Amino acid sequence: AKDGGRGRLKVFEEAFNTLARDALLIDEALQHAIARNEFHLVYQPIVEARSRKLSKVEALIRWSTPSLGFVGPDRFIPIAEESGLIVEIGCWVLQEATRQARSWADEAAGPICVSVNVSAAQLVDPDFLLLLREFLARSGAAPDELEIELTERVLIDEADTVIRVIDAVNAMGIGVSLDDFGTGYSSLSYLTRFHLQTLKIDRAFVNGIEHSERNLALVRAIIAMGHSLGMKIVAEGVETEEQARMLTELGCEYLQGYLISRPVPAAEIRR
Ligand code: C2E
Ligand code: CA
Ligand code: CA
Ligand code: CA
Repeated sequence: AKDGGRGRLKVFEEAFNTLARDALLIDEALQHAIARNEFHLVYQPIVEARSRKLSKVEALIRWSTPSLGFVGPDRFIPIAEESGLIVEIGCWVLQEATRQARSWADEAAGPICVSVNVSAAQLVDPDFLLLLREFLARSGAAPDELEIELTERVLIDEADTVIRVIDAVNAMGIGVSLDDFGTGYSSLSYLTRFHLQTLKIDRAFVNGIEHSERNLALVRAIIAMGHSLGMKIVAEGVETEEQARMLTELGCEYLQGYLISRPVPAAEIRR
């Protein structure tokens, strides 16, 4: 039994060492990723629930390197947040997203609003508002062609600064969404402090609403709460027609998920 315990510990240690080493490799490779042009954005449609018409798209970063291959954002974004590099990466994302928004606006079919994920460190960076203004001005994109998405985590850290920045972003005419709602700890009264226009229900709750009474009850409560605060609701991670039908019936205004479309390159977005 003793040996078995040691054996398991060894396996655990090896797995841990591999993770730690990978994190170091990722951290190092990230330092050159912008300069080497290794990032690109893909876009996932968000549609109006009833008409299924395209409402906006969410920009999602992709990274591929010669040495590490494809590394997903769930893996490298936390490492970039840890090192602080997320500020620079987020800046690249904003610039690229505004450029793409302008490019869509120039097409005959008209503009498409692009929603961009913004990390805590990026939002409270003293240059954030300046850069946002500059990218809009430089690209010529209109403020209503851009939105930002924040997670509950962002609201909890440095709340006073965050309230100020959100108000300034709103004053520029840019909408703000609360991402991954339900996974954090914010209460209703807490949320009223922030001026958020959209609430995105995390896919953990959307998943299985057709089988789980508990998830259904949670989703219903989240929608009621969001509406009572005057917010529009996006359901994330919608994968089946049954989920789409139920969410639409529950009063969810927008749907996003593999049922509608996977994230795709800009050229594949159809209105
Ligand atoms: P998120 O903001 O919650 O983005 C939604 C994620 O769910 C995306 O994963 C998307 O591909 C995935 N997804 C969409 N529909 C479905 C579905 O129907 N089923 C399932 N199983 N998944 C679905 P992705 O692109 O791997 O991004 C993961 C996370 O990485 C994002 O979660 C976001 O937190 C972060 N991220 C991505 N791009 C950026 C960025 O430019 N900046 C920052 N700060 N974070 C980013
Ligand atoms: Ca998001
Ligand atoms: Ca999300
Ligand atoms: Ca998420």
